Amino acid sequence: ERKASLAAATGPGVTSDGHRVPLLANVGGPADVAAAVRAGAEGVGLFRTEFLFLDDGRGGGTAAPSEERQAAAYRQVLEAFPEGRVVVRVLDAGADKPLAFLTPADEPNPALGVRGLRTLLDHPEVLRTQLRALARAAAGLPVHLGVMAPMVADRADAGAFADACREAGLRADVGAMVEVPSAALRARSVLREVEFLSLGTNDLAQYAFAADRQVGALSRYQDPWQPALLDLVAMAAEAARTEGKSCGVCGEAASEPLLACVLTGLGVTSLSMGASAIPYVRAVLARHTLAQCERAAAAARASESGAEARAAARSVLSGE
Ligand code: PEP
Ligand code: MG
Repeated sequence: ERKASLAAATGPGVTSDGHRVPLLANVGGPADVAAAVRAGAEGVGLFRTEFLFLDDGRGGGTAAPSEERQAAAYRQVLEAFPEGRVVVRVLDAGADKPLAFLTPADEPNPALGVRGLRTLLDHPEVLRTQLRALARAAAGLPVHLGVMAPMVADRADAGAFADACREAGLRADVGAMVEVPSAALRARSVLREVEFLSLGTNDLAQYAFAADRQVGALSRYQDPWQPALLDLVAMAAEAARTEGKSCGVCGEAASEPLLACVLTGLGVTSLSMGASAIPYVRAVLARHTLAQCERAAAAARASESGAEARAAARSVLSGE
C-alpha cells in the first residue's frame, strides 16, 4: 500500500492507456520551486509573477522591481526545470491582486476594471521591463519557455500582447489565459495571435456566473464542476485541438483528481496545480483510460448542476 502510493508520487502524468497529460506546478516565485520538484512536476504551468511585485523589497507594491531583480528571480525558477516547460504569466495586477502604483483606486467594479493585461497595455513600460527581464533570464537555458497574458478578452488583446513579446525580442511560446468568457467563446479567433491557451478556471467561473470570487456568500458559483464552466472549457479545448495548439488548465479545477480526469476528457492538454495536489492527480489519472475520461466528461456536461456533474463523473469513473 505504502509502496503503491510512493510509486504514484513519481513519473509523468499519463492515463492508464498511455495518453500523456503533463502535470505542472503553479508557483509564486523561487520559494515554491523545491516543493514542485519534490512532487515530480514536469514543469511550471503558471508562474504568478505578481508576488514578486508585491514583495519588492521596499515595503511592497510601491514600484515595479528592476529588470535585474526580476531576471534573477525568473532565472531561479527556470533553472529548476532545465529540460521542462515553464510558463510565466506577466503581471496580473488589479481586483483581488491590487498594486498601489498601478491599480486605479476609484473603480466602482475592480474585477471588471483595468486589471491584468489591461493594466499592462496602459503601462507598456512595465510590460516591456518584465519581458526583457524574462528574455535575459532565459538566455542560454534549454528550458521550453512560455509567456502568457492574464485577462485576455479578445483577439485584439492577444495580438497586442504578442506584439509586445516580439518587440521585446523574447524567444518563447506566447499564450493567452482564457479566464474571460468572451475568450472561450471566440477561442479560435484568439488563437490566430498566440500559440497556446491556458484556462484560468477561477476567474472564468467568476465572470461566467457574474459572482465575485472574493465574496464568500457567492462561493457556490466558484464550484468548478458547474456544467456551464465545463462547456466553456470544452469550447476552448476544442478550438485549440482544431488549430493544432495546446490548451492547459491552471485554475484550481486542475487540482481535484476526478475533475482532472474530466478536464482530460474534455480535451485539455496539460494540468497545472499547487505542488501538493500533483501526486493525487497523477495517481487517479493513471487508473483511467482516455475513453473513460471522455465518458465522464460527457456525463458531467449532461448534468444540471455542479453536484450532479460530480456525482455523474464519479459514477462513470468508479463503475468501470
Ligand atoms: C485563475 O483565474 O483561474 C487563475 C489561474 O489565475 P488567478 O487565480 O491567479 O487569478
Ligand atoms: Mg485569474
